[in-house]
Amino acid sequence: MTPPILPVNHTRDSAIVQDILLRNVPDLLAAGLIPENEAPALEAVTARYAMAITPDIVRIVDPADPDDPIARQFVPTADELIASPDELADPIGDEVHSPVKGIVHRYPDRVLLKPLHACPVYCRFCFRREQVGPGGEMLNREELEAALAYIRGNPAIWEVILTGGDPLMLSPRRLGAILDALEAIPHIATLRIHSRVPVVDPGRITPALLAVLDRRKPVWIAIHSNHPRELTEAARAACRSLVRAGVTLLGQTVLLRGVNDDPAVLEALFRAMVAERIKPYYLHHPDLAPGTAHFRLGIAEGRAIVRALRGRLSGLAQPTYVLDIPGGAGKVPIGPNMVEPGGVRDPAGRLHAYPHD
Ligand SMILES: *Cc1c(COP(=O)(O)O)cnc(C)c1O
Repeated sequence: MTPPILPVNHTRDSAIVQDILLRNVPDLLAAGLIPENEAPALEAVTARYAMAITPDIVRIVDPADPDDPIARQFVPTADELIASPDELADPIGDEVHSPVKGIVHRYPDRVLLKPLHACPVYCRFCFRREQVGPGGEMLNREELEAALAYIRGNPAIWEVILTGGDPLMLSPRRLGAILDALEAIPHIATLRIHSRVPVVDPGRITPALLAVLDRRKPVWIAIHSNHPRELTEAARAACRSLVRAGVTLLGQTVLLRGVNDDPAVLEALFRAMVAERIKPYYLHHPDLAPGTAHFRLGIAEGRAIVRALRGRLSGLAQPTYVLDIPGGAGKVPIGPNMVEPGGVRDPAGRLHAYPHD
């Protein structure tokens, strides 16, 4: 089966894209990413939620498309000022499971370690949007020591997951020091980093960074990507260099209205991931983050999309569709239920009797 034809990968004329990080509303106006009359509302949005867009992302935005799926993820909109009653400042309950600053310990065998709160870009749908942002964002030396001491003192912890913020924003020296400390703990078998950097700022994947990622214990990097156009040639090259450094790559994707709520788009994304040795890991149902109602879709809709993928896509390219239960109860698979009282349903929708349920 041939994958769907995608629109030609639009690249803005590099002469008009300045190589600067967009950080505020005047920057967005200068880059032609927002109309003048929206500026006042967007000042209110950016006063509340952090904003940054890297040159690599600006280059793949199609300014002629008012519904561009790349712009939609990163360019603020007035919709973010609309609060809906079911939204939560801490949608997945990080706080209730935080024994020391920078650690979230929800499952017995693994912890999150959040060394910093800064990101290269600020996704408009982020579930930690009330926590992330530039400025005063690093764990200080004592806080980091306390977090490492917590991990050392808990032999049930088998895996440490660096997240944040984006851990690949740390200098190679700082990241290397943290990884060295973790790798030296005997009960830590494996290290994982969740990051947007290889896609949104691939220039940060330098030889110095690769050198600190290449180590005895396995390092997994879960790369967050939501649309096939994000996997530019520069992003793909960054992924290849990570693989050569011995890193195992996973893909994580958030299901988002107006970005990828279409089986053809997800199929192209997951195929592109596998073609770069990225195993699609999770497809996240959107969280109840404040001011993100315009990105959300129903579980029934999500299941229909995932069911459509089941029949036409290699198992290698199928992530698990998960929901992080609000309040901190954990992630659970919510994919379509193929087992029914009358039997088991096949990918084409036919029901087959099965002797034992
Ligand atoms: C998502 C998450 C993890 C990782 O879960 P996996 O299913 O292993 O990917 C671990 N701890 C917390 C608190 C999380 O939110």
